[in-house]
Amino acid sequence: MAVQIKLSVFQGKTIAIDGPAGSGKSTTAKLLANRLGFTYLDTGAMYRAVALFALRNNVSLEDGNALAQIAKTIKIEFQNDSDNGQLVFLNGEDVTEAIRTPEATYGASAVAVFSEVRSELVNQQQEMGAKGNMVVEGRDTTSVVFPRADLKIYLDADIRIRAERRFLDAIHQGEESSIDTQVELLKARDKNDSERKASPLMKVNDAVVVDTTSLSIEGQIETIIKIAKKRFTVV
Ligand code: C5P
Repeated sequence: MAVQIKLSVFQGKTIAIDGPAGSGKSTTAKLLANRLGFTYLDTGAMYRAVALFALRNNVSLEDGNALAQIAKTIKIEFQNDSDNGQLVFLNGEDVTEAIRTPEATYGASAVAVFSEVRSELVNQQQEMGAKGNMVVEGRDTTSVVFPRADLKIYLDADIRIRAERRFLDAIHQGEESSIDTQVELLKARDKNDSERKASPLMKVNDAVVVDTTSLSIEGQIETIIKIAKKRFTVV
């Protein structure tokens, strides 16, 4: 019996998704990877894990060398979860929730300014993505980590909408918050991420911009799949 081989246009491809906080990167990348049967690489989780380890061990978030040493020695692992989620392990401990606290979030942004931390994590990310079949998401994935990705997407959204999304996440995690507070926090994080010297957040020339302001999550995924099919189909 002939074996039916379905050659997908997505086979072996790398899709890199970049954009500011609250633009919908994580949810979109996670679901897109799941839809395509790809690995999802959440690079932000790695900066968060370095920050969490430093905070727990009283390492200054201003000591670039010590932070780079942490990045080099800790073991960060990902594991798929049954409900489409992804668990993050730090030296064998499940830190999926611990890396999402406000302290770890702003800690991640602080450790991410150091080029010595970035180069260590970027090496690890490039190794993980060497075989393709991956959706990778994070601030420098289109510019530095996978500059030759098969498709680069820059997700963006109005700051008020991004703040609303972050507000709902915060409430969900039992934190007190307001949309105005989230707007201020996002502005601070956007500034930090786009003005830093090492790999600032930016839209590279060959990235396709997808504005998610009025798109549902499903709409975002459909939009990217449509763009990808068009890009990968040779006519
Ligand atoms: O994407 P996420 O919110 O988890 O990222 C946390 C922080 O880690 C970001 O605000 C950013 O400062 C940093 N980061 C980075 N480069 C990446 C991923 C995240 O600088 N590739």
